Amino acid sequence: MLKNALTFSFTIALILSFSFPEVFTQPQRKKVDMLILGGTVITMDEKRRVLTDGGIAIAQGRILDVGTRAEIQKRYGAPETIYATDKIIIPGLINGHTHIPMTLFRGLADDLDLQEWLTKYIFPAEAKNVTEEFVRVGTRLGLLEMVRGGTTTYCDMYYFEDAIAEETAKAGVRGVLGETLIDFPAPDNKTYQEGLAYTEKYVKNWQGHDLIVPAIAPHAPYTVSEEHLKAAREFSDRTGAPIVIHISETKREVEDIIKDKGQRPIEYLERIGFLNNKVIAAHVVWPSDDEIGILKRLGVGVVHNPQSNMKLAAGVAPVPKMLAEELRVGLGTDGAASNNDLNLWEEMDTAAKLHKVFSGDPKILSAQQAFEMATILGAKALHLEKEIGSIEIGKRADIAVVHRDPLHQLPLANIYSDLVYATKASDVQTVVINGRVVMRDRRLLTLNEAEIKKSALALRERVVKSLQLPASGR
Ligand SMILES: [Zn+2]
Repeated sequence: MLKNALTFSFTIALILSFSFPEVFTQPQRKKVDMLILGGTVITMDEKRRVLTDGGIAIAQGRILDVGTRAEIQKRYGAPETIYATDKIIIPGLINGHTHIPMTLFRGLADDLDLQEWLTKYIFPAEAKNVTEEFVRVGTRLGLLEMVRGGTTTYCDMYYFEDAIAEETAKAGVRGVLGETLIDFPAPDNKTYQEGLAYTEKYVKNWQGHDLIVPAIAPHAPYTVSEEHLKAAREFSDRTGAPIVIHISETKREVEDIIKDKGQRPIEYLERIGFLNNKVIAAHVVWPSDDEIGILKRLGVGVVHNPQSNMKLAAGVAPVPKMLAEELRVGLGTDGAASNNDLNLWEEMDTAAKLHKVFSGDPKILSAQQAFEMATILGAKALHLEKEIGSIEIGKRADIAVVHRDPLHQLPLANIYSDLVYATKASDVQTVVINGRVVMRDRRLLTLNEAEIKKSALALRERVVKSLQLPASGR
């Protein structure tokens, strides 16, 4: 009887091993949450390795292993697999500077200089329209646009940032989100003191969250007093929250601060003890060589916004020089009112070409350097390079899978050239953030596109009316 039973079990096992050979031949496969298999992996690690026919194992929101497809398939099993054969797998893009709800001001006032644009249109439009509801709708519209283009992290500064953090976390997107403080009544807080109290609560709410890094964002050295800048510094020291700010965006700002403080903006900010390795400075178009030295010495993050700077004719930031000095230089779109989109692919393309034409040297900024600014260098600009910016073991699983067969990419000669000069945001196929799929095969899993479009259009009517702009063509 026993012998019969043993023979029976043995026969079953033999049948099973033929039908499901992996059950028997690979018992050592470790169970993880997700695999990405096949395709070319652009790691952006220290050696800038590019793996053909690669594989990635993801567990608990992080990258557990990176290797060839065969290696990863042999070592791991998962309930969810993204097949990426013939595709490109990149670290999620990092948009280093936005004002995300300003998507609702897109196209509202174009072809103006910064001061006129700000004082005649943007500040009045904000005073009349920006409520928490407005911010939520604009944030959802911006998140939609960024996810569709493979952006997985963005650095923001606006009002009602607590609501922005809520919408961002709900959509499963990563953000360094700064509550803006400014020396005039803002839509959410009437005084700087109220703003600080709001920020205190906001930062406490979100610190330690998997996706959200709450920050404090004094608007700029020309809109925030010395005393208030020092208060922001003290706040950052006490809470560990990063500081997001605009610095040296226009020539006029530099001239005004020299008049007022006797020093250039970055020299002045250094003197008052404002700058350190927690600061993320947007624009930095007009730094002197000495000021570049200060930014390097203090480890300040810098975010280059080429399209916004071009559109407002703010100038051309000395990015090749800052890169040569190994500053932490990322790339941003700025708000949609001054760009007019949140498309980092265009920003990479523009950055590479702007510096070529401006310097007369086509070698001055390569496609690879532009791609670095949107990934690993962008992570450094946000002081998050230990967490994001590359596909490496231990980092957060923020990854985009990009098509490589649209006509505009063929016939595939050089990976970085293809990515920077030819790839479109619409070529992004699948997006994973913190190990969670937020877009699969262009289908959004966390955002409702039809609803977001509808509510954005409804709010546009309100904005146009509030500024008494002619309705036609708007
Ligand atoms: Zn800005």
